[in-house]
Amino acid sequence: MERTLSIIKPNAVKKNVIGEIIGRFEKNGLRIAAMKKIWMTKEEAKGFYVVHKERPFYNDLTNFMSEGPVVVMILEGENAILKNREIMGATNPANAAPGTIRKDFAENVERNAVHGSDAPETAAFEIAYFFSALEIM
Ligand code: ADP
Ligand code: MG
Repeated sequence: MERTLSIIKPNAVKKNVIGEIIGRFEKNGLRIAAMKKIWMTKEEAKGFYVVHKERPFYNDLTNFMSEGPVVVMILEGENAILKNREIMGATNPANAAPGTIRKDFAENVERNAVHGSDAPETAAFEIAYFFSALEIM
């Protein structure tokens, strides 16, 4: 059993496809251990993506992530981190496989619909960034 952090990004929330995206996680055997809709400030988005602070896209990315509400979730299941990354598809939707969330809902490499943790250490940091112990089933 493993846990990972998932975010439905502002462009996908705006498109009204929260349910469709969550359905894909559930169909693939992942369970939602916690979930909430929040609107991050620029500073909160910068803190979440601090690993990317030296990247040229950091400022644009954190503007995007704070432009509107997002849905943050803890997904739970066997190999949840890798499974979620497979369901999401490649970072750039141009390279994402058919049937993946990013292929179907991303606009471009930045506005790519979903976030998913990439390793156990980042999952632990990202889960603790948004959720307290009392909020996790
Ligand atoms: P992933 O979300 O697939 O783990 P990264 O961790 O590399 O991808 O990047 C974090 C986020 O930054 C991406 O999901 C995307 O929103 C944005 N991003 C990544 N690469 C670029 C890029 N070349 N140009 C603009 N935005 C990018
Ligand atoms: Mg990443």
